[in-house]
Amino acid sequence: MKVDHASAANTFNKDFNRTTWHDESLWFVRQKRDKAVFAVTEFQELRELASNIKDHTLSNLDNYLIEFERNAINNGVKVHWASNGDEHNQIIATILKQCNAKRIVKSKSMLTEECHLNPYLEKNGFEVVDTDLGERIIQFRKEPPSHIVMPAIHLKKEEIGKTFHEHLGTPADEKDPQRLTEAARQHLREKFVASEVAISGVNFAIAETGSVVVCTNEGNADLGVNFAKVHIACMGIEKIIPSWKHLGVFTRILARSATGQPITSYTSHFTKPRKGYEMHIVIVDNGRTQQLGREDFRNSLKCIRCAACMNTCPVYRRSGGYSYNFTVPGPIGSILSPNLDLKKYSTLPFASTLCGSCSDVCPVKIDIHTQLYKWRQIIGKEHALPVSKRWSMKMLAQVFASPALYNVGGKLARFALRWLPHSFTYNATINPWTKSRELPEPPQESFRNWYQQNKQKK
Ligand code: SF4
Repeated sequence: MKVDHASAANTFNKDFNRTTWHDESLWFVRQKRDKAVFAVTEFQELRELASNIKDHTLSNLDNYLIEFERNAINNGVKVHWASNGDEHNQIIATILKQCNAKRIVKSKSMLTEECHLNPYLEKNGFEVVDTDLGERIIQFRKEPPSHIVMPAIHLKKEEIGKTFHEHLGTPADEKDPQRLTEAARQHLREKFVASEVAISGVNFAIAETGSVVVCTNEGNADLGVNFAKVHIACMGIEKIIPSWKHLGVFTRILARSATGQPITSYTSHFTKPRKGYEMHIVIVDNGRTQQLGREDFRNSLKCIRCAACMNTCPVYRRSGGYSYNFTVPGPIGSILSPNLDLKKYSTLPFASTLCGSCSDVCPVKIDIHTQLYKWRQIIGKEHALPVSKRWSMKMLAQVFASPALYNVGGKLARFALRWLPHSFTYNATINPWTKSRELPEPPQESFRNWYQQNKQKK
């Protein structure tokens, strides 16, 4: 079904207090990012460097992927390739069956969200527990993440208290973040100890050594991997960087851009399985090579999922992550989603003011707002715009192309603005533009008339 961003945003906006608080919370993170970034005098050089490394890697992706695979296999890791989400899920289910595992702990991975791994595993009789605090909260509530770094940012502490009361037996009115976190900690310790397999995402995969690097703030990836006999790391093909020496560039920009921290609390490196243990890496395409082939959009694959573009976006902050109905919401999600289904996600590139703030903060210099604009043009050409918009644009094109029509149109508009009742000009169905804006005072005459008269006077 086609995603209707505007309607979904409208629903979110009905709760005025939540919208304001959501907006302010994300702006607070954006300000923290600014302070962290300005504290590093060479931050712009780091951005440039990160962008160039990613450019180079994407241009040589085939070679680096093969190098990565070869080195990982030499390290004793089993490498699997999945062309789409279904294959990814099937590969994981097969590994789980082979090692006779039923209890799985998972640290945050947007790729597994993208592939809908949890529902697939649960349908096949596996217990999968998300161990990132925010992810666990939304897993209890059977909700998807609304943000890629702070998945439960849409929830208030009172709502989390209620959820924990239902699932973890905390007191009904408990809303103290520290006590709630402690309850989650105790609950998750039991899950870690009992787990047989740990699934993790991958932030960076190093071709030179075949290692994967996972960044967390809670240490849950390390805990999971060290308790379980089997580690499965899932990564998109774009996570590759050529060598160790490049990693420092990305770890310096990732946390600063995401949460305003100098570095994530844990930056864990996994290269080979311990003796008697297993390590698997699943490398997933799922539309990425198609995006790589789109000249105008290929550099969206540089994304390191820091979420800075979401935190700064005035539309995301005021419409919430669910209004995008895509695993990665916000500006970058609005570029990635039409690649997978142009018709379904055709409203998302329009969910932007094109102010360019997303491009300004992006640590790998993706020209996000330009790409949003380019998707709009493609969507227009592919007739994926709503009929009303298509016809109104056609009519406007006729009016702007004809001075006579433009004149008559101007006269009519000035007359209508002056004489039509307020209930008509501000009717939200007829004129949604006025929902939160004032119409301008109609001028007495057009600029053309004024110019003609004043020119003659001179
Ligand atoms: S597009 Fe840039 S700013 Fe947005 S999540 Fe990706 S790396 Fe971060």
